Amino acid sequence: MNMSGDEIRAGLRNDEFVPLFQPVVTLNTGEVAGLEVLARWQHGSLGMVPPGAFIATAEQEGLISELTFGLMGKAFTAARMLPESQWLAINISPYLLRDLALPKRIREAAEAAGFPLSRVLIEITESALVEHLEHAQTISRELKAQGCRLALDDFGTGYSSLLHLQSLPFDELKVDRSFVGSMTDRRESRKIVSAVVGLGQSLGLATIAEGVETEEQAEMLLLLGCEMGQGWLFGKPIAAERLSEALTTRTPIRLRPSSSFWRNISYNSPPGQRLSHLQALYDGAPVGLAFLSPDFRYISINQQLAEMNDVTVQKHLGRHVSEIIPELYPQLESHLRRALAGESVNAMEVKQPATDRQHDEAFLASYLPAFDEAGEVVGISVAVIDVTARKRTEAALRESEDHYRHMVELNPQIPWVLDDNGMATMISPRWQQITGMNEEASRGRGFIRALHQADQKRVAETIEHSLRTGDPIDVECRVRTCDGEWRWIRSRGAPRRDESGRIIRWYGSADDIDAHKRLEEKLRSRAGEENFPCSENV
Ligand code: C2E
Ligand code: CA
Ligand code: CA
Repeated sequence: MNMSGDEIRAGLRNDEFVPLFQPVVTLNTGEVAGLEVLARWQHGSLGMVPPGAFIATAEQEGLISELTFGLMGKAFTAARMLPESQWLAINISPYLLRDLALPKRIREAAEAAGFPLSRVLIEITESALVEHLEHAQTISRELKAQGCRLALDDFGTGYSSLLHLQSLPFDELKVDRSFVGSMTDRRESRKIVSAVVGLGQSLGLATIAEGVETEEQAEMLLLLGCEMGQGWLFGKPIAAERLSEALTTRTPIRLRPSSSFWRNISYNSPPGQRLSHLQALYDGAPVGLAFLSPDFRYISINQQLAEMNDVTVQKHLGRHVSEIIPELYPQLESHLRRALAGESVNAMEVKQPATDRQHDEAFLASYLPAFDEAGEVVGISVAVIDVTARKRTEAALRESEDHYRHMVELNPQIPWVLDDNGMATMISPRWQQITGMNEEASRGRGFIRALHQADQKRVAETIEHSLRTGDPIDVECRVRTCDGEWRWIRSRGAPRRDESGRIIRWYGSADDIDAHKRLEEKLRSRAGEENFPCSENV
């Protein structure tokens, strides 16, 4: 449907043109950032006529100015009820950009309605700029000077867009709905939206995606770093009388972590920043990192991994993994293929058998597929940790633990360790063999319970004394054996101190001195027997 000039004149006379308002939403909060004014003709007999039916004719017939300012006045008046944070976007026809008085007329319209210019966003379409770039520059500079902001509308549909972006002081970029509408099924559209958002970010412009109809589109836009969205998902254009309905906060777009985009696109950071961040990570990471092409050639590699491979960074680039590490490649190939198929391979152990020069080496390698916006694997991210030293330490530790266990277990003595409070933290397994009291029960001061009641107090006091003075522990006492007998033991220990001289632990051991004790007793009693008759004789 195309309306004639005369019909439009009649419509203007009858004041039949009205503004509708469509919300523009901040994607990650769901809040209404502003509203775009869209023209409608409330025709007496045809009902609501869309702008596609009259804007072009109005431009050709020289009626667009009257139409625009009529709408603008109504829109500004209605928009007075908007919260202060929300702006109003006005579409300006290319024809009006020839008129140098445009900024002044907009100012007057806003002032007449009492709407601040700082909350006015002027939308200019690309096609509008081609022929009148100089005029457009003058006008846009003036608009900016009076506080308005500028958006480049329908970006991507016109031509020489980059020239416009560079020559005019835009604040916002509107991604045309033709790309947004097809971005969830068409890889090319997705690439274009991604590129436009990236371009906007690197130029410091906020991006508004038009024609957002589904959650899926909104989520994808958010992940691509797009700030704002406009479309039926958030609300259709509504009349001034229903404006208050459009202002309520909507639910923010939620990112589903399962989304394949999630992992690969860092949210909201400009590509330049992303790159420097990655570079810093690469150089500074204490792990070997590389990125492989789908045919397993090194696209990039950091110094650490280059050193592990014993080949310079430069020599890696463009070469196949099998050329660089031929002896490991057979171990790796199947895992690289898994990553290429989209699977994550985590912390896989790789062994480098000993050569005549070197010992065995061990690595942990992870291969993660890197996806593009279309969900295709475009390469493999490699991370490698050299665990040779750790493996060696582990083996040495195992061996020394083994030594220790043998020493303790086969030792006829009973080694023990007390902490700085005199609490037992370790008692040799021999103790359990002798007393039947297990390690758990012996810990702390538990071991005292295995002692003869007549010795318990003395042993405790000896320990307390040594703790106080630092004198070596040396005490004899009787312990109850599994068979219910009493055996004499002698327990001796010395403190270990830290650098400041503070006692941190006591190390010692107990010996079975029962035989010795009995012999002593026997000798004593025999001496007694021998002496007694003598004394009796005395
Ligand atoms: P535009 O500036 O790109 O406006 C957005 C158009 O997309 C509007 O169509 C809007 O109703 C429509 N739209 C919004 N969300 C969705 C969505 O989710 N899906 C789909 N399929 N469409 C959506 P409308 O109102 O018919 O306006 C068409 C064009 O007419 C506008 O495109 C704009 O270029 C022009 N226009 C509208 N009002 C004015 C005006 O006051 N002055 C001038 N010069 N041009 C205007
Ligand atoms: Ca627009
Ligand atoms: Ca548009």
